Amino acid sequence: MTEQPYSYQRQELIEPDWRRLPGWADVTPEQWESAQWQRAHCVKNSRQLRAVTGTGLSDEFFADLEQDQRERATMSMLIPPQMLNTIAPALAADDPGFTRAWYADPVRRYMLPVASDREVEWPSHPYAQRDSLHEAEMWAAEGLTHRYPTKVLAELLPTCPQYCGHCTRMDLVGNSTPTVTKHKMSLARADRLEAMLDYLKRTPEVRDVVVSGGDVANLPWPRLESFLSALLELESIRDIRLASKALMGLPQHWLSAEVRAGMERVATTARSRGVSLAIHTHVNAAQSVTPLVARAAAAMFEAGVRDVRNQGVLLRGVNSTPTELLDLCFALLDGARIMPYYFYMCDMIPGAEHWRVTVAEAQALQSAIMGYLPGFATPRVVCDVPYVGKRWVHQVARYDAARGISYWTKNYRTAIEGDDPLALDREYAYYDPIHLLPDEGQEWWRAQSRTAELAG
Ligand code: SF4
Repeated sequence: MTEQPYSYQRQELIEPDWRRLPGWADVTPEQWESAQWQRAHCVKNSRQLRAVTGTGLSDEFFADLEQDQRERATMSMLIPPQMLNTIAPALAADDPGFTRAWYADPVRRYMLPVASDREVEWPSHPYAQRDSLHEAEMWAAEGLTHRYPTKVLAELLPTCPQYCGHCTRMDLVGNSTPTVTKHKMSLARADRLEAMLDYLKRTPEVRDVVVSGGDVANLPWPRLESFLSALLELESIRDIRLASKALMGLPQHWLSAEVRAGMERVATTARSRGVSLAIHTHVNAAQSVTPLVARAAAAMFEAGVRDVRNQGVLLRGVNSTPTELLDLCFALLDGARIMPYYFYMCDMIPGAEHWRVTVAEAQALQSAIMGYLPGFATPRVVCDVPYVGKRWVHQVARYDAARGISYWTKNYRTAIEGDDPLALDREYAYYDPIHLLPDEGQEWWRAQSRTAELAG
């Protein structure tokens, strides 16, 4: 066999045995597969985590975790048992090296960040921002971002069944943390959703709606179904994509009888009207694709959704090598028929520098994964450039790799640029993490920050 940089091997999906963790030693398969049980046993603080892992994790680990929650975390802790169970999946809590395996684990790294993970000199980029994509500025109605000419993002609710440490909507999603007071929507949910539908009725050039949040799995099913039914009444809407990380984090939700029956009704209407209904999920590590996740995806295909696609986030220490990315893509595709679609570079939110990769690294990753997957399932690695939108990483117009500043252009106006004559000529900047730059680049940023301090 010819030796290749990546060697493909079909992997069987594994549901790790949750009974290896002392807090779940007596949990039955029926309990485990109940969405209600999963929601009631989510881990929200280190006391609850300790109750699950017993004496497995060291006191130093908990001190590290609590320090991060106090001083850095932009998201509060919330992790369903299903996801927690995929951390260090091969080790029992009393196995030697359990704490070490947790520190190194990709799911732990992004779901339960600890203080020692963070970058020391530049934990946040000087240009990092809450709402780094300026979505709220582009709200056509509260929670409805109109950034691209033909598509919108509808943020129906600001909660999820799981909170990811790197969440790009950290401004709005989840509970406030000691360092971040979350913004609140001003309208009641029913009024907000009504205002979104009104805008879509008035704006027939929008043909594609990403129904998101948060995570739609946290919206009571009847509410979600009535919103989707109203969308399906609009002749102009041809694509509907439901955003739910919970397809992986809480597959029990999508496997519940109420949701399956409801999806079947919605998918049947969509099909009869020629509308493509898809689910977009968010899986970042191969070990998260378990048999239960595959069952949830299969249930959605059975219900009649056209496709289930994955939009992962490229995160250092999680999936930033070609092998990690390809293992994940093959687990999704072979194991669960989930289409690898995008990998976004992690956005420039506060505290994210240890996760982010440079544009050059992202380009190298895109090149490295070409040719292994079918073309239709080869994900695009994209940079979501503020005020621009998604750009494939090789579309960069200019790149100063020493200072880590890339410049991008665009071919459409966002909703707020109707009368901006330069919108399509301007170059928009994006920034690499400073600690990954060559010495001269790091020194340049230090000088910049000294100047800013003096001026301030
Ligand atoms: S599931 Fe999505 S919206 Fe929710 S915390 Fe994670 S990244 Fe943010």
